[in-house]
Amino acid sequence: VIYMKDIEKSYKMGKNKLTVLKGISLEIKKGEFVAVLGPSGSGKSTLMNIIGCIDVADSGEYILSGQNIKAKNEDELAYIRNKEIGFIFQKFNLLSKYTAEHNVAFPLLLRGMNKREAHQKARKVLENVGLGDRINHKPLELSGGQQQRVSIARALIGEPNILLADEPTGALDTKTGAEILNMFVELNKQGNTIVMITHDLEVAKHAGRIINVVDGEILDR
Ligand code: ATP
Ligand code: MG
Repeated sequence: VIYMKDIEKSYKMGKNKLTVLKGISLEIKKGEFVAVLGPSGSGKSTLMNIIGCIDVADSGEYILSGQNIKAKNEDELAYIRNKEIGFIFQKFNLLSKYTAEHNVAFPLLLRGMNKREAHQKARKVLENVGLGDRINHKPLELSGGQQQRVSIARALIGEPNILLADEPTGALDTKTGAEILNMFVELNKQGNTIVMITHDLEVAKHAGRIINVVDGEILDR
């Protein structure tokens, strides 16, 4: 589902240019669980933003589910992003005023689905991640692991082709993190394609394959 060839990305700093991605080429197939592993500052989040169509590369080729990302404008990118990618963040990024059910229903409401149907589906997905008894809790009334499960449910509800997770266990203790990682393994067995960004080798080991990024380049082994 993901094909990248010679992707380069620089940030302009005044009159200087900081090259962060120096020719990344990779391929991720449907149904894979891949960890992108690298130290702080190696360009992981920059790469994740490009994979997730939040940002575009300066040069190189990126094909996502058969679509050439270079040729798209902002609206088209937003459309592809919403359809293709389910995002999971280190800090959960839930809406604190809303219940778990409303948070999970939210992407469907944005798409214009009627409220009853969206909430019904949200309850079902929350049940699938083991939170059927927490649907009316707001984020601060949930543990960290539960909040991350809500955000996984929110990522899943639109049935994206790819789950894209940036340090999904970074804010969790080791045991809770392991539960979340086991949930990823399970979701992957059910057919979900997962791309997980991490700096932690122990976390990366849960994936089926590890892509090592060092200083903006992929380390081949
Ligand atoms: P971490 O593990 O700490 O999250 P990372 O691998 O995700 O690191 P990036 O966030 O991709 O690293 O950053 C890579 C490099 O690009 C860093 O040196 C950073 O300072 C620089 N950088 C990132 N974003 C910008 C920006 N918007 N403008 C300028 N430089 C940036
Ligand atoms: Mg980062």
